[in-house]
Amino acid sequence: MTLSEKAIVTDEGLEALLQALKSLGYRVVGPTLGDGAIVYDDIGELSDLPIGWTDEQEAGHYRLSRRGDRAFFGYAVGPQSWKKFLYPPLQSLWTAKQEGTALQVTAAPVAEERFAFIGVRACELHAMAIQDRVLMNGAYADPHYQGRRRETFIVAVNCGTAGGTCFCVSMDSGPRVDAGFDLALTELDGAENSRFLVEVGSEAGRSLLERLPSRPADSAALAEADAVVARTAQSMGRAMPPVDVRELLLQNPEHPRWDEVAARCLGCANCTMVCPTCFCSSTEDGSDLTGTETSRQRRWDSCFTMDFSYIHGGSVRPSLQARYRQWMTHKLATWHDQFGTSGCVGCGRCITWCPVGIDITEEVRAIDDSQKAKIEGEKGD
Ligand code: SF4
Ligand code: SF4
Repeated sequence: MTLSEKAIVTDEGLEALLQALKSLGYRVVGPTLGDGAIVYDDIGELSDLPIGWTDEQEAGHYRLSRRGDRAFFGYAVGPQSWKKFLYPPLQSLWTAKQEGTALQVTAAPVAEERFAFIGVRACELHAMAIQDRVLMNGAYADPHYQGRRRETFIVAVNCGTAGGTCFCVSMDSGPRVDAGFDLALTELDGAENSRFLVEVGSEAGRSLLERLPSRPADSAALAEADAVVARTAQSMGRAMPPVDVRELLLQNPEHPRWDEVAARCLGCANCTMVCPTCFCSSTEDGSDLTGTETSRQRRWDSCFTMDFSYIHGGSVRPSLQARYRQWMTHKLATWHDQFGTSGCVGCGRCITWCPVGIDITEEVRAIDDSQKAKIEGEKGD
């Protein structure tokens, strides 16, 4: 079997894959049902997957429902992203202990847990590539991220269902996985005995697939898999307007739409917590009651909090208008200048999990529509 070779496996092959990963020492993590949502957690066996469940998503709305079949990956994306494991919400950085007149400082050990992620979507692979660039491949690598990410084995899944808030097609980041995986699955049906087309994306993936019960993929299966992805692409819930969003936002820092969105925004920071590319953090120091031990930890933070941009004299972005504009303009405009890509992969999480249903695509469209109307008006004068 060679790289990019394709094979067919059934439920039995998928179960064998989970067990093979465990026998190789991986911590196997994937989609499970928890807290009324599909969340990423440890997987013991195939039955831990959300078999037969799907998610209904709209702006400010998420519900689980039964599909009426036995699909293993018949949902879009849940509230959590893989950054929960690679870049955890709370990370110890160092501790210091007073010993007599000396101070003993100990760096937090670098985690070397080997993760195997099951069910990673195309938009999520793009998000990981963005976080790799920021946290691992830039001038300042985060050793904790690097330690976890380097050894990660990725079993990706081509989406067979688009969520109501997904817009990856318009961000060129899905629904088909294109790079960054070891094995990629396409679920071909949700009947009693599921079949999966498996594509090899790395040497590690190839050698693992060789251990599984499989058969070569025929042209009918390949066509079936193409149809699954094409159907998903056509049923995308939303689209980012096809304009130069970077230019549009940079030209409109004082647009009245920023005030309108700020009137609805609660500043809750949900959008940044669920976003798979957001990486802002703060550091916090704490000490014990005797004052002899202290520690520093890193905690996820958000550009939506007042404290995040606090410097001597006050917050740089005191209004919600300024904070929402900062978030969206960074994601869609200045991220290109800083990191060479958009900071958005179209996963739709910020739309679903915004309690007041603010939609990043709708905000761009509103500014674009008014810009076009202004240009038309000027032509008419
Ligand atoms: S900005 Fe919203 S849609 Fe884009 S990657 Fe973040 S959560 Fe997903
Ligand atoms: S846009 Fe929505 S999710 Fe984000 S801070 Fe405002 S209210 Fe919260």
